[in-house]
Amino acid sequence: MIALLLLIPIFFCLGSFLNCMAYRLVHLQHPRTSRSCCPVCKQIIAWYDLIPVISWIFLRARCRRCAAPISFLYPLIELLTVIIFLGLIYKIPMEYLFGYGIFFAALIISIRTDLETMLISRFVTLCLIPIGFMLSLLGLLPIHFSQALLGTIFGYFILWGIAKMFYLLTGKHGMGEGDYDLLAFIGSFTGVVGVWLSLLLGSVVGSIVGILLIAWSGKKQMTQPIPFGPFLAGGAILYVLFQTQITSFLLY
Ligand SMILES: [Zn+2]
Repeated sequence: MIALLLLIPIFFCLGSFLNCMAYRLVHLQHPRTSRSCCPVCKQIIAWYDLIPVISWIFLRARCRRCAAPISFLYPLIELLTVIIFLGLIYKIPMEYLFGYGIFFAALIISIRTDLETMLISRFVTLCLIPIGFMLSLLGLLPIHFSQALLGTIFGYFILWGIAKMFYLLTGKHGMGEGDYDLLAFIGSFTGVVGVWLSLLLGSVVGSIVGILLIAWSGKKQMTQPIPFGPFLAGGAILYVLFQTQITSFLLY
């Protein structure tokens, strides 16, 4: 238990790193370009202003030099990373920590980019599918290679099919291609059952949040579409952490 507490600062730094990767992926900066700077005034950010969560609160969500606002996504992603990775260490057997660690890191990056820009980078979805295949072949994920392969195909085409049907019925585009890529990636790490339950959990939570947002914004038309990626990614994380409970709940 104490060992878990010692990991918290490390996971905060990991969250900070994932924030940085997500930002650079959608703003098309090379992930290895030098030090972090303010996107508005270009001032390099000092180390004491890069402390996860604390700096954001201390600076009152503004740049020290130009007072440009700093997104709430920074502390949100850092806290989320800590909670998710503590869950990983606590719940997942040792031999699968590496595989699921990569999986969760990519999902957290997708959550951030989709919330910020409604985009999901293929670098953290399609490009990592071969890694899922390799890890399943090496026994570093609890699924067989054939399950990873089927999960990928199923993940991509089920959303593609739903989106096509939705378009035929309503003439509107409901989902982005980034969502198909994301669910295919989820399939490569969790198989067909993982895809199915991530989609189910993501849709249930997404619908509840959607209804709450509509209720909260009153009768006004919702102007901003809600990204679906964070719910799919969240569904996949819940599935991996609670798969025994979820499958026994659904089967018995
Ligand atoms: Zn600034």
